[in-house]
Amino acid sequence: MSRAWKEAQKHIAGGVNSPVRAFKAVGGEPVFMERGRGPYLFDHHKKRYVDYCLSWGAILLGHAEEATTRAIREQARKGTGFGTVTEYETALAREIKKAFPSIEQLRFTSSGTEAVMSALRLARGVTRRKRVVKFEGCYHGHTDSLLVKAGSGLATFGSPDSAGIPEELAALTTVLEYNNLEQLESFFKNAKDTACVIVEPIAGNMGVVPAREEFLKSLRKKTKQAGALLIFDEVISGFRVGYGGAQELYGITPDLTLLGKVIGGGLPVGAFGGKKEIMSALSPTGKVYQAGTLSGNPISMVAGRAVLSRLSREFYRTLNQKTGAFLRQAQEILRMKKKSAVIQSAGSMFSLFFCGQKPVNFSTVLKSDTKEFKKFFHKMLKYGIYTPPSAYETSFVSGAHTEHEFEKTLKAFEKW
Ligand SMILES: *Cc1c(COP(=O)(O)O)cnc(C)c1O
Repeated sequence: MSRAWKEAQKHIAGGVNSPVRAFKAVGGEPVFMERGRGPYLFDHHKKRYVDYCLSWGAILLGHAEEATTRAIREQARKGTGFGTVTEYETALAREIKKAFPSIEQLRFTSSGTEAVMSALRLARGVTRRKRVVKFEGCYHGHTDSLLVKAGSGLATFGSPDSAGIPEELAALTTVLEYNNLEQLESFFKNAKDTACVIVEPIAGNMGVVPAREEFLKSLRKKTKQAGALLIFDEVISGFRVGYGGAQELYGITPDLTLLGKVIGGGLPVGAFGGKKEIMSALSPTGKVYQAGTLSGNPISMVAGRAVLSRLSREFYRTLNQKTGAFLRQAQEILRMKKKSAVIQSAGSMFSLFFCGQKPVNFSTVLKSDTKEFKKFFHKMLKYGIYTPPSAYETSFVSGAHTEHEFEKTLKAFEKW
């Protein structure tokens, strides 16, 4: 065992500050990274990797991107936080609103989980109802109410997914199957106690599984009829699949939108927003309490702005096109090598599923061969390609990836 891993495990619970980093899903020891530059990561032995994890999607323009780094450095000189109102917050809010017309007002948090938590409380406060509905395989951070999974594909009352979550709380969460229109319609025959439905419109936490259009359309219609709020969790898909997120691609307007990852330019951040009428229920104007010592901190705000202010529809066209071309070549190699694997993607998000067909929900995702993934992961690592260390996570391409990195990756694919 490496000294670094031994020391980490001595001082940090399980050696990690977030479980997937421990490589439990792929075996072996996690790689300690030391620095990043553009599309590359460098480990503590100076080995270089093409990075497709990109801080779980938070890095859109590449590591240590120049303008972002400059903004962070200049702000750090002026002070890292004051615990007061600042114009940096307003400036980033404006950038977000430009891309998301459904957001009239928003509030920043320090993580995606916090944004989720706050949005649930807000939805419950506004509707005065208790039940929340989520979909199997969608991840919304580690807040108690949503760390709940379903039985085998049937609508069930949730049972907790983690120790430490009271069953009484989990019982207020209903878990439905993703992309299952029939189940959705049957649930809404009696949804009087439902405060909100939360969904990843393009799921990224069971690998990439886009929602079917008619599924999201029905969800929009049914929630409206039932007086429940529709929450789009775009923590991954926001500023990733396109300028206006998944809601722009599908042309569907949610009541609340959750953002995170990309909007912090690689620094800790989250945000939730929607109609002013809903958002004004938050304290101090309303009765729903929500707060944060470092919420909207200047460093995250200026880093986020350095990234968002340079984005455009043209940027995404280029990014998505180059990702598409790369993935077509990758799929062709898989075909020639007769591998039972499919690639599913949305913009610059993609997953390799080791199964015969593109999955449409969590139970079909689970059909993929995780042993094959483990082998694939370690081969790629050896060849200097870093992908997320789990078969059920999404890979990403950044604006800094070029033909050169794609070629290197495809060569590794050919050797595997
Ligand atoms: C990452 C993620 C979250 C949680 O964000 P954190 O910053 O890790 O707390 C919530 N929802 C989705 C869809 C995510 O991908």
